Amino acid sequence: MPIPMAVCELLSVGTELILGDILNTNTRFLSQALAALGIAVQRHGTVGDNPERLAEDLRAALVRSRIVILTGGLGPTADDITKEVVCAVLGIPLVLDARQMAAIERFFRVRGAPMGETNRKQALVPEGCTVLYNDNGTAPGCWIPWKGNVVVLLPGPPREMEPMFREKVVPLLRPFSSGVIVSHQLRTVGLGESLMAERAGELLDGENPTVAPYAKDGESYLRITAAAPDETQAEALCAPVIGQLAERLRGYVYGIDQLLEEAAVKALRQAGKTVALAESCTGGGISTLLTEVPGASEVFGWGVVSYANECKQALLGVREETLRLWGAVSEPCAKEMAEGIRAASGADFGLAVTGIAGPGSSNTDKSAGLIWLAIAGQNGVRVRQLSTGRNDRRYNRTIAAKQALALLLEELQKKATPSNGGSV
Ligand code: AMP
Ligand code: MG
Repeated sequence: MPIPMAVCELLSVGTELILGDILNTNTRFLSQALAALGIAVQRHGTVGDNPERLAEDLRAALVRSRIVILTGGLGPTADDITKEVVCAVLGIPLVLDARQMAAIERFFRVRGAPMGETNRKQALVPEGCTVLYNDNGTAPGCWIPWKGNVVVLLPGPPREMEPMFREKVVPLLRPFSSGVIVSHQLRTVGLGESLMAERAGELLDGENPTVAPYAKDGESYLRITAAAPDETQAEALCAPVIGQLAERLRGYVYGIDQLLEEAAVKALRQAGKTVALAESCTGGGISTLLTEVPGASEVFGWGVVSYANECKQALLGVREETLRLWGAVSEPCAKEMAEGIRAASGADFGLAVTGIAGPGSSNTDKSAGLIWLAIAGQNGVRVRQLSTGRNDRRYNRTIAAKQALALLLEELQKKATPSNGGSV
């Protein structure tokens, strides 16, 4: 039963956003926070520090949405125009707020800094608004009720905006919230987005929860989102759909709301096993992923970045003959690397990767995106060949690292495995 929700839209103000100088993290933060409150964000807008365009966008937003939240443009300088434009559009005068004025004076006194005349501008607020005093800067936010709607002004800097939203805006938004939205990610690796979507089938057509596919860096995942009066009910709507999806994607799902490296560390811990790494084309990328997980030291202690053939030979025991006959990017080399690091470290698993990251493939007839993975364990070595078909260094290195972790997980979980080889 879909529940009616207050419609909200976000309007970011700042020429730096339009020019792409900074990333619009405020919109991301607010969208996630509002969703959790059960408020439906239906549009994102961005406009430069231009009064006419801002006024135009605000007028359009007020027609469509019950809640309009603007960020940015509240600073003391001449290009900060949000308050003035909003007041002009709403037909509300700006008045001096004594408490805010005192707070600004104190802010400068405490820092021993001279206060510019322009800072006084920051004590002006729309008449009749609720002032959202800023504990982390000088620009106050404003909660402006208007004809049954509400317009919220927040400062641009995330370190000011985020606490102000959490502490001052959330309590005011509660009456607009008709429940909660709960969202989970079912994460898969080794399956392209379209294949994943095909297997999910008609489950993608649901309305509550909705199921939406995403793909990123060799991983594909499904976002399952339910709206309900409370969290328990929202979770109850998600659970059966997640169960069905996990069944249809068996063998590819590595976790729910969890990163691949977190899943790998967790699985190693649960199995009481350790892994050691021999990395060529990833240059330590797998080690970086694993060591980002707290507690990784319990399951991972050894890694060799064996970029040069000499290193592969000296530290991993790769045979000269293997390199001569097959080259460093080959099945035999990957196998010997995995066995070599396992033997040297005494770990339960030796995981190795060797590949051509690109761009181009100097000194070889193999093409960029060819990657060999190998995992050595007590029952021998298993290899996998990947061909990304892409001449993109960053992509190939990321895929190699992720697929190596996927191979490790398969080994640990003894899951039905995707076919050996193939493209990603
Ligand atoms: P303001 O003076 O309120 O316009 O904003 C000042 C600073 O806040 C900008 O220079 C940015 O560094 C940051 N900022 C503004 N808008 C955003 C946004 N949407 N996302 C992230 N940072 C922002
Ligand atoms: Mg600005």
